[in-house]
Amino acid sequence: MRIGFAGLGAIGTPMAARLAAVHEVKVWNRTAAKALAFVAEHPLASPAATLRDLASGAEAIVTCLPTSADVAALLEGPDGLLSGLAPGALLVDCTSGDPATSRAIAAELAKHGIGFVDAPLSGGPPMAIKGALTVMCGGSAAEVARAEVVVAPFAAKVTHMGPVGAGHAVKAVNNALLAINILALAEGMVTLAKAGLAPRAVLDVINASSGRSFVSEVLVPERVLTGVFPRLFRLALLEKDIGIADDLAREVGVPNSVIASARERCRVLRASLGEQADYLDPYREAEQRAGVELRG
Ligand code: NDP
Repeated sequence: MRIGFAGLGAIGTPMAARLAAVHEVKVWNRTAAKALAFVAEHPLASPAATLRDLASGAEAIVTCLPTSADVAALLEGPDGLLSGLAPGALLVDCTSGDPATSRAIAAELAKHGIGFVDAPLSGGPPMAIKGALTVMCGGSAAEVARAEVVVAPFAAKVTHMGPVGAGHAVKAVNNALLAINILALAEGMVTLAKAGLAPRAVLDVINASSGRSFVSEVLVPERVLTGVFPRLFRLALLEKDIGIADDLAREVGVPNSVIASARERCRVLRASLGEQADYLDPYREAEQRAGVELRG
């Protein structure tokens, strides 16, 4: 299959690598040097000079950018995706985006006979490298079936959630839950450390008890207790995701004080830690505020 890939970021790069191993792939990145470096490492892939070039002859485009607004901006202009895409092509948007903008993108593409599926991911770069991401799709049954073939090289589980925007809605709530677990466990762990308890022993008991989560079982032991803190997912993106979940709850009229207050905490942390901070850096911030270290 001829695929154009836009967005060689932390997770886009291993996804594009999986695609390039089995399909004819062109890559485009806003910072062109990253596309050239990618092609140097993956000689079967080729670089696209423009988005129009990326789209020309492509059966599918895969996008993986920070926001849906960033994806929408790629469509327009004399060198935009729309200028190169042929009727019958499909845009598979793996961005963790927002449902309303995706519906607008899908409507615009439909005028040109081009399909759209929102296909956000869960799993992170290590799972992308293994081809083990979870993908949640929004779109028509026929277009999601086509998207399943496109994402297969990097996905272990693909689920059709509903119409366009449904994938983004589920992803936003998933990441709201992730953010809440991160923030709540950071508060709980530094509280117990400050009370004189050993972090490793505390976590071992939590992980054999009802308060455990993916954050307590995987993220904190591997990245906080070890002090490794790899930079795999920007806190700014998690803040964006919980914002989408909060906005969605308001849009459908559901009271959501827990998500709203965690959103506000993420906003404050993003502002103080910066755009490049990792999503587990709030642990270091909590440690500093409490005057303890969660290692062991
Ligand atoms: P990064 O910040 O690492 O990379 C962002 C990518 O988007 C870069 O290629 C960047 O280009 C490009 N980009 C940024 N702004 C624009 C723009 N306005 N126009 C065109 N290109 C742009 O992000 P990730 O790869 O981590 O995340 C990408 C998406 O995947 C996000 O929606 C994120 O929420 C989601 N996601 C990320 C996961 C992770 O673990 N990292 C896990 C699951 C989902 P440039 O090189 O020029 O900066």
